[in-house]
Amino acid sequence: MEIDYCEFRAEVRAFLNAHLTDAMRAAGRLQTYAFPHMEQALEWQSVRHAHGWGAPTWPEEYGGTGWDSKQKEIFREESLLANAPGEHQQSLNMCGPCLIGYGSKAQKDFYLPRILSAEHVWCQGYSEPGSGSDLASLRTAAIKDGKHYIVTGAKIWTSNAQDATHMFCLVRTSTEGRPQQGITFLLLEMNSPGIRVEPILNLNGVHEQNHVYLDEVRVPQSNRVGEENDGWRVAKYLLEFERGGTNITPMLRRNLELISGAINDDTSKGVVNQFDDPGFRERFAANEIAMMAADATEQRISHALGQGESPGVLSSFTRVMTRELLQEIDALFVEAAGPYALVRQREALRPGNNEEMIGPEHWLLATPRYFDQRAATVAGGTSEVQRNIIAKTVLGL
Ligand SMILES: Cc1cc2nc3c(=O)[nH]c(=O)nc-3n(C[C@H](O)[C@H](O)[C@H](O)COP(=O)(O)OP(=O)(O)OC[C@H]3O[C@@H](n4cnc5c(N)ncnc54)[C@H](O)[C@@H]3O)c2cc1C
Repeated sequence: MEIDYCEFRAEVRAFLNAHLTDAMRAAGRLQTYAFPHMEQALEWQSVRHAHGWGAPTWPEEYGGTGWDSKQKEIFREESLLANAPGEHQQSLNMCGPCLIGYGSKAQKDFYLPRILSAEHVWCQGYSEPGSGSDLASLRTAAIKDGKHYIVTGAKIWTSNAQDATHMFCLVRTSTEGRPQQGITFLLLEMNSPGIRVEPILNLNGVHEQNHVYLDEVRVPQSNRVGEENDGWRVAKYLLEFERGGTNITPMLRRNLELISGAINDDTSKGVVNQFDDPGFRERFAANEIAMMAADATEQRISHALGQGESPGVLSSFTRVMTRELLQEIDALFVEAAGPYALVRQREALRPGNNEEMIGPEHWLLATPRYFDQRAATVAGGTSEVQRNIIAKTVLGL
């Protein structure tokens, strides 16, 4: 049956209008860092799940919506336009797809419904002090003890670990052979004895990342995903979703619209119009064109995912393109904000806070976003490393 996309868009709009609360919309509108405000994001996830729209990118048999790639794009566009809180990436777009690909039946049956309902919140324990780009050198050790592993080591940069109920992580189970061969993928509960979480504040002063210390943490062997010492395969599979599983271009488009909307709003109040400056206009147009090119690549990935394929190396392409573009657009936002870019009012950007803003709300978002997005070309694998992957896999260098 042919899908009427206009009708579908109207259905999505009606759903958003009916279910998004003011607090959720404020959380979406005021989000200045990579991860959504957790409280409203989880609330929104459970509302979507109750409607059967909890995981648009998952296969239908596990709770996906069965939408085609155009419908998913429409949903994302409309959600952004309505300022809906973002999705919790590590749960929905990393752990979920990875368990669908590599989890046992018991793991899928137990964890997937709890991700959908937002009962479980996941964080990613890959990086360690000294093991980031060179992830395979990781040293957190897991030693077998009866039906358990005893895990000891340290993870770093673990986003949202302070709110997570669970962590998927990589541990070393063997030092024989190549480093990649001795890694195992484990699922652990964050309230297990022996886990300590310490905050790392980002450039904005926001608590998003953490150190996670693991001191003889007991993890049942049934929480292993895939075979022992074969975790590298599982880890790489998950990274394909982290690097290419979510379309970023609707957000880039939205950010460009935010800038032009803010400029037009100011102009209507008699303030200078940055579009009168040919240099600014040219940069804006160049970013818009680059965004369209990135969009085409993301569509190809969405199509592959819709066919049950993994994104493969295309995910590294889009990762580089979209993250660098995100930074370009945020730099443009700061330029457009002019003197308002100097205002730092972190508290005023917290949903529900009544602190009076200095200047229009839209300009207050520019500098925090700019600072936060400095990390966009580092988190999830740096642009340099992504380029190495492309050079090796595509160009055969
Ligand atoms: C905001 C943020 C959130 C994060 N969240 C998480 C998380 O939730 N979970 C998690 O596990 N990790 C997380 N990370 C960690 C992230 O994956 C690592 O920071 C990233 O992989 C880079 O590793 P590193 O920081 O150790 O830098 P390094 O690997 O030490 O790299 C330092 C510099 O050297 C360059 N470099 C390194 N190797 C090469 C090479 N072979 N060729 C060319 N250049 C190279 C890099 O590009 C970089 O510029 C997060 C990081 C950030 C910034």
